[in-house]
Amino acid sequence: MAKRSKATPGGDGPPVPDVIPARPTLPKLRDAAQDCRACDLYKRGTQTVFGEGPTKAPVMLVGEQPGDAEDIAGHPFVGPAGRLLDTALGEAGIDRARVYVTNVVKHFKWEPRGKRRIHAKPNGAEIAACRPWLETEIALVKPRILVALGATAALALLGKSFKVTQHRGRFVDSPLAPRVTATVHPSSILRAPDDQSRHAEMRRFVQDLKRVAAELK
Ligand code: SF4
Repeated sequence: MAKRSKATPGGDGPPVPDVIPARPTLPKLRDAAQDCRACDLYKRGTQTVFGEGPTKAPVMLVGEQPGDAEDIAGHPFVGPAGRLLDTALGEAGIDRARVYVTNVVKHFKWEPRGKRRIHAKPNGAEIAACRPWLETEIALVKPRILVALGATAALALLGKSFKVTQHRGRFVDSPLAPRVTATVHPSSILRAPDDQSRHAEMRRFVQDLKRVAAELK
């Protein structure tokens, strides 16, 4: 009998390693994740939003967590940030159909503000609780290039020494994939204060993705 993992604070279901199928495939993993209650975030989100893309995608992009639109749709990167990402990938020359997209945390964490649901940052315990889903996705897809989008994903995948503001677009050694890097999250571009800075941020984002495209050749 498999050794039982430590219970996760805040959740009222078994820890993720206990519910990952013995011989996982992406569809089996996705199914198992739908019922995950390993941390408190399942109480707030509408549903688990699991990663999507080809089984053997050469590129995996990892964001922080699903947003409001993704939580409702049940699919990652389908809201405004996802549309911006699609545009940037196109401009960088990366075929969107060859990309697997997912998040460090699979439930939307939010706080109410009036009638709106405002994004709230997942904490370390929530990220740690959810991490085995991501690790298993990486193990199954085996991407040649892994790209963290935003500071939370970069911290989770690359550790504290990688600062997105200073090191974005740089490839680093990692046991996670042959090539690993990080850049900003597309939602940060949407939050730019004016058109000029938004266009400048978009250009830098596309530039970072072009480095990824160059590695794919
Ligand atoms: S955020 Fe992750 S660990 Fe927490 S309930 Fe959702 S799927 Fe499970």
